[in-house]
This record gives sequence, structure tokens and C-alpha cells, in this order.
Amino acid sequence: MKILAVNAGSSSLKFQMYEMPEEKVLISGVFERIGGTDSFYTIKINGEKIEKKVTLKDHNDAVSCLIDELLENKIIDNLDEIKGVGHRLVHGGDIYNKSVVIDDEVIKNVESLIPLAPLHNPANLVGIKAFTKLVPNACQVAVFDTAFHQTMATDTYLYAVPYEWYTDYGVRKYGFHGTSHQYLSQRLESILGKKDIKVITCHLGNGGSISAVLNGKCVNTSMGFTPNAGLVMGSRCGDIDATIIPYIMKQTGKTIDEVVEDLNKKSGFLGITGISNDSRDVEQGINAGNPRCILAQKMYVNMITQYIASYYVFLGGCDAICFAGGIGENSINTRKEILDALKPLGIKIDLKANDVRGKETLITTKDSKIPCYVIPTDEEVMIARDTYSFIGD
Ligand code: ADP
Repeated sequence: MKILAVNAGSSSLKFQMYEMPEEKVLISGVFERIGGTDSFYTIKINGEKIEKKVTLKDHNDAVSCLIDELLENKIIDNLDEIKGVGHRLVHGGDIYNKSVVIDDEVIKNVESLIPLAPLHNPANLVGIKAFTKLVPNACQVAVFDTAFHQTMATDTYLYAVPYEWYTDYGVRKYGFHGTSHQYLSQRLESILGKKDIKVITCHLGNGGSISAVLNGKCVNTSMGFTPNAGLVMGSRCGDIDATIIPYIMKQTGKTIDEVVEDLNKKSGFLGITGISNDSRDVEQGINAGNPRCILAQKMYVNMITQYIASYYVFLGGCDAICFAGGIGENSINTRKEILDALKPLGIKIDLKANDVRGKETLITTKDSKIPCYVIPTDEEVMIARDTYSFIGD
């Protein structure tokens, strides 16, 4: 059975088509700069990568183009072969703790959550509308980035602010990257061969978050009301004192929107180095002796180790830790620095094993108190699995 996993952004649309339940990827790709004058798409099929320039005035055009490619490449003979389309949705608020089949009520609920995710939810909805229109017979499923974190306890997800901010305006910790953390914790269950485990999952990409997972349920996570909380990220600040915001507004005359933009787009690696949000550039800077790159990396690693150490105590111990995302999967040096800093927990890195990129690997020694792994994450397969679960054989 053919299932599409889709991630629609404001000007992009990523897709991966699976044969289920085998979980075989048949074709994948991304449409970029939708609505612009220079739109294009890249597809990967049978190990071959193809890039084409094309006019895409909106997401409907991208979906039409995707359907043409599926037909031309004989991935499908007709549209009815696409039994399900799973959509990544950034925000399910506290309405959704698992994936759901999309109907009018779901659309209404996702719309009602737009104030909580003003950039992402509208873009996700545009994707849903395009697929519902052009592939009307497929079962459309919503897979929420926040759902996995809904098991956090009230004393964990609340902020110590006036209680009415929560009851009247939904101010609380939601957490994001949930699909990735769920995938990683399930992989650790398989690797360790048991389900009743305490694990810490680190998703370190351009955005980054860490979760504490107890017996398969998320009990804490580093992102908060928005994805801007927690770790130092590519261009996001992570945890800061909220009072910095009015202070900077008064000092600079910047508007609230400008300061929020600074915190989202001009902070993190980019803010500290003044060079780049990309960890590869930071690494290059470090090798060239750039003091601000050295500083940014130190701050990045400090924040990660603080979260891991605090979740170790929060969980009352830890059976395994894993690293995923562009940095977690690929940056040998960053993993080494993190694991070295975690020595007080009895963690011992295996330097040879850690010399790895993008491959599931145990990177600690046999006598390390906590085994640590690199695990390439796979949010798309989770979307396909959830979508398939609603359709069955
Ligand atoms: P996103 O949050 O956008 O999904 P990714 O998970 O793709 O981000 O991660 C992007 C980050 O991964 C960037 O900082 C990039 O530098 C880093 N990265 C990717 N490949 C490598 C590599 N080979 N070595 C070090 N860092 C890498």
C-alpha cells in the first residue's frame, strides 16, 4: 500500500512515498520556493537525484507536479493507489496527544491553534488543503510535533507565571520535535531489548531539543511554549531571562516583533559567532582559532550537558542516551565534547566508535555507566506508520 508522508512549509513541501507495511521508500523529494519566481524541485528515485526548474504559483501546483512525477515514474498507475497522506503538523496544542484522521473538526482545531504557531500551522493547513483537493480519496492524517510531549505532568509543563496565563491563553510548555523523540526512544527500546527504560533523546539539528522519556512516555523536554526555548540553536537563543526583552526594547527602540525576530533568527550560533547558524562553519571557525566560534561551541555544549545532567536526575537514572539530527548524527567533535563533559555520570566515550556519521552506532565503551548511541532519526517513517495504522491492510 502506498502512503505519502508530507511536510508543508510556507514556501516548501517535502515528501516521501512509502510502500507499507514494508516501509520501503519509493520516492522522496522537496519542492522549494513555492510562490516565488525561481521555484524548483528535487526528487530522489532509485538512488538517482533529479532537479527541475518549474513554475509553482502555490502548493496546489506543487502537489499536481508531484502527482505527475509519481505517474511518469510509474510509482503509481492511478491516483487511487495513494491510500493515505500523513501530514506533519507543528502544533496540536493540548487538544491532540496522538495522530488523527483529518476531518472538518480537526481543521477547525488546527486553525484555532494558529495563535500558538502563527508561521507553521497555516502552512501545514495549506498542504492539507492541496492534498485533500487533488488526492480526495486518500485518508488524510495529521501527525503532531507536540503530541508525544502531552504526557508531561502539570508540574513540568506549567511556567510559574499567573495561573490565568495558562487557563485563559494556553501558556505552558508544549515541546516540539515529538515525532523524532518518539522514534528515537522506540529505537532505544529495540536496541536495549526492553520497554521499561529511562532514556534521554537528543535531537540536535539547526533547531535542537532534548527529551526525557520514561517507559516510552515523554516526561520532560527542553523546548517550551515555542521552539525557541531550551538549547542554544542555529539562530534561536534557547533559554533566556524573559526580562531581557523589555530591556532591549527600551534600550534600542526596537519593536516587540523586531526583538522576537532577533531571538529567533539572529541568536544562537549566528548571534554569538556573528558568522553563521551552521555548525560546520562554526567548526571551521574553531579550527581557524576564531574566539567567538570557540565561545559559541562552549555555550552550545554547556547547555546540552546541563539538560542531560538535569534529566538524569529527573528520571532517577538513565539507561541510554542518543544523538540525532544534523549535528547529533554528524558532528564527531560536538559529541566528544558533550560526552567528555558528562564524565561525572560515569560516561566513557569510545573515540574510535564515535568516528562515525549518520549511522546507528554505540559510541561509548563497554564499561561506560550509560551507553550512548548515534541514531539517525526518521520522522517520515513515523508519519507513514501512523497514517498506515488508520488504514490497515
Ligand atoms: P533542521 O533542524 O533544519 O532539520 P538538520 O537536522 O538538517 O536541521 O541539521 C542541520 C545542522 O546539522 C547544521 O548546523 C549543520 O551544520 C549540521 N550538520 C550537517 N551535516 C554535518 C556534518 N557532516 N558535520 C557537522 N555538522 C553537520
